[in-house]
Amino acid sequence: MNDIALHRSPTADLIALEALYGAKNYKPLDVVLTRGQGVHVWDVEGNRYLDCLSAYSAVNQGHCHPKILEAMVAQAGRLTLTSRAFRNDQLAPFYEELCALTGSHKVLPMNSGAEAVESAIKVARKWGYEVKGVPEGQAEIIVAADNFHGRTVAIVGFSTDPQSRGGFGPFAPGFKVVPYGDAAALEAAIGPNTVAFLVEPIQGEAGVIIPPAGYLKRARELCTEHDVILILDEIQTGLGRTGKLLAEEHEGVEADLTLIGKALSGGFYPVSAVLSNSEVMSVLHPGEHGSTFGGNPLACAVARAALRVLVEEGMIENAARVGDRLQASLASIRADSVKDVRGRGLMLAVELHAEAGGARRVCEALQARGLLAKETHEHTIRIAPPLILTDAQADWIAEQFAAVLR
Ligand SMILES: *Cc1c(COP(=O)(O)O)cnc(C)c1O
Repeated sequence: MNDIALHRSPTADLIALEALYGAKNYKPLDVVLTRGQGVHVWDVEGNRYLDCLSAYSAVNQGHCHPKILEAMVAQAGRLTLTSRAFRNDQLAPFYEELCALTGSHKVLPMNSGAEAVESAIKVARKWGYEVKGVPEGQAEIIVAADNFHGRTVAIVGFSTDPQSRGGFGPFAPGFKVVPYGDAAALEAAIGPNTVAFLVEPIQGEAGVIIPPAGYLKRARELCTEHDVILILDEIQTGLGRTGKLLAEEHEGVEADLTLIGKALSGGFYPVSAVLSNSEVMSVLHPGEHGSTFGGNPLACAVARAALRVLVEEGMIENAARVGDRLQASLASIRADSVKDVRGRGLMLAVELHAEAGGARRVCEALQARGLLAKETHEHTIRIAPPLILTDAQADWIAEQFAAVLR
């Protein structure tokens, strides 16, 4: 009876169970979380951590925001799903509030980020055939090297990351890859059958890569000049993360299609959307695209609350202000291992020199100090806490990095 398993920690038991039954498509830190509130999460041993990942920026509003929770519980007890075969009373106000906030004209509601990307690709192609007059089957979409747009077969087909695409082909044709941040390469790649340019304003998964100043503006000009749809994937950069509602505002550009997701629900529920600023969305007619859960009343009620608190509680301005402070503190750390500190708002990254021993080790050391962050690729640590971070918490984060890096 004195089985050793009986004496293992709850953490070890749950990790072992997960390994036994789960697909091994992730390699998480060995921390098992059970509760979250604001910027903090707690593991099953009772340890508290400051969350510097925010579920890849899905929890911009902080964990278990009480007002989003209230909206979710109230709606869950009233009506959760009708399908779009019938109408529900949350969809129209969700559309209205989202369009007012973002200056959009049309919304297509979906669930995951990848679905929003797939939907934009479909809409852009259809627009190419019906409006631009591209010959059937010839539509071409330009994407950037080192992109991350999700995990569906079509999307990984135009990824340049061997881990993301290797072994998953054959892939959909019709995509052309150009270097990120290179407007001249984009211009050279545009041809008569180009229907869209799909790009992240800041590449998140690639390691918080900020393009040269003026890049998005030039991309916008080129798209307008050549009758090409500009699709900005703001699934990670949007909804306050970079200190503006949308990252496109930093360069004063407007996309034809803007994709949002992640923080659109404050982390309560998968909600995504394609926002359209032009006639593009009008190419979709009844029966041509859809989703059982897209635009459901629970999603709409949660998203309405998530957008409301983002604005009413000043989270976007806070991200800009506290983000600058945190970036300055991180940049002042004098450590040989640090190659670069960069970011915008609270979308930050510390890149280590290749010989420094890897970002994973730093993340594990930070974990021991009560800070959860995740490496992206080998040498970069992303820092993206909830946008409600205080000055004192920002200073504390910088202190932990200083202690671990020195
Ligand atoms: C996370 C992310 C996606 C995919 O979102 P999912 O909800 O995981 O499908 C797409 N684009 C960007 C820029 C992202 O960060």
